[in-house]
Amino acid sequence: MPKTPTNPSPTDLAFINRQLRQRLNSLTREANHNEEVLKRFHDRELTLLATESLPQLLGCLVDGMKSSFDLPNIQLILHDPDHELRHLLLHSGIEPDSLADIRFVDEIATFSPKHARYKAPWLGPYLDHEHAILFPAAETLQSIAILPMIRRGKLVGFIGLGSHDPNRFTRHHASDFLNRLATISAICLENTANREHLVIAGLTDALTGLHNRRYLERRLEEEVTRALRYQHPLSCLFIDADHFKQINDLHGHGAGDSVLRELALRVKECLRLSDIATRYGGEEFTLLLPQTDATEAGNLAERIRHRIQAKPIAIHGGESVEVTVSIGVSALQSGSGDSTLKIAEQLLEEADNALYLAKESGRNRVQLANPTSIPKNEQEIVEIND
Ligand code: GH3
Ligand code: MG
Ligand code: MG
Repeated sequence: MPKTPTNPSPTDLAFINRQLRQRLNSLTREANHNEEVLKRFHDRELTLLATESLPQLLGCLVDGMKSSFDLPNIQLILHDPDHELRHLLLHSGIEPDSLADIRFVDEIATFSPKHARYKAPWLGPYLDHEHAILFPAAETLQSIAILPMIRRGKLVGFIGLGSHDPNRFTRHHASDFLNRLATISAICLENTANREHLVIAGLTDALTGLHNRRYLERRLEEEVTRALRYQHPLSCLFIDADHFKQINDLHGHGAGDSVLRELALRVKECLRLSDIATRYGGEEFTLLLPQTDATEAGNLAERIRHRIQAKPIAIHGGESVEVTVSIGVSALQSGSGDSTLKIAEQLLEEADNALYLAKESGRNRVQLANPTSIPKNEQEIVEIND
């Protein structure tokens, strides 16, 4: 005889009910957690897409990711065979080697052949012998994620995420979000590099490779604001080649161009990375010198003047021409109560006026706008070995 099904007792029903409730609670918690994770990834992706410059993007990839994912260690390894990224950073005044947690490698396949084969994120325990190359300061890392950044089928870098928690990254974790994040990062890297090339093209003087006047106008207010805020000195040099027209007239325009290129080179050789050198126009160059007071700027101006005068400049046909420059020097006057723009304009104007005085008083000389700080005389100035 078949057994007749018995109705569950009220006790059984209460038990099933409790189990279902617990399951529902756990699913709700998981859904909430996933939503939070999704939101965090979404926010990070939007921030990456909104970055406008390479330094900003790199900061967002490393420091931004550290804080939004609460991770102690993020490493970025970027494939940079032609040093393109490094040059773009240098152009923004950033020394690539000074960026902790970011390494630029000429060839990823040589740098780490094993990891260069990764096509998708790898999540798992940190193993010193395998992963130290990607995480040089790993110390107490317990689990890591290695995200290959792939663009147009090519590996352009890695993002390494490191955690002290052994369960943060395991093989059982889904890696779709991480994969997407790495892909977006690779696209952003390409976009920002392209954008930066365009900006440089619009803000660089084609003949000398120095910044152009538009670039100076952009940076000037920025530097004045910074100097006033932190009470740092800021100086400005106006450099003008003496009797340059004669070089064109005697040797031709091509020779004039060679001289301008060499002048730019000699000026650059005297500068620090943070100094901003522009070709203001024609045979005039402007230097903006952060953290430099009038006396130091006067000394630098003398060094530049010396360096240019010291050796004739080679032009075509084995000939060379002797070239001198006159230089006007001004320094930021704080506390005037004027607007930043006004102060910035005044800084340029004073250097220009001082240059005019240098020309008036015989050329091939340095003139300070502020007569209270006289430049050291030539004997005291460090001699340059050409
Ligand atoms: P001063 O000592 O008073 O500065 O005399 P100068 O001859 O240098 O000044 P002036 O302003 O009379 O002449 C500047 C010349 O620079 C005139 C212009 O043709 C030339 N010049 C401007 N831009 C270029 C350029 O890109 N290439 C060449 N070859 N010459 C240029
Ligand atoms: Mg001139
Ligand atoms: Mg001139």
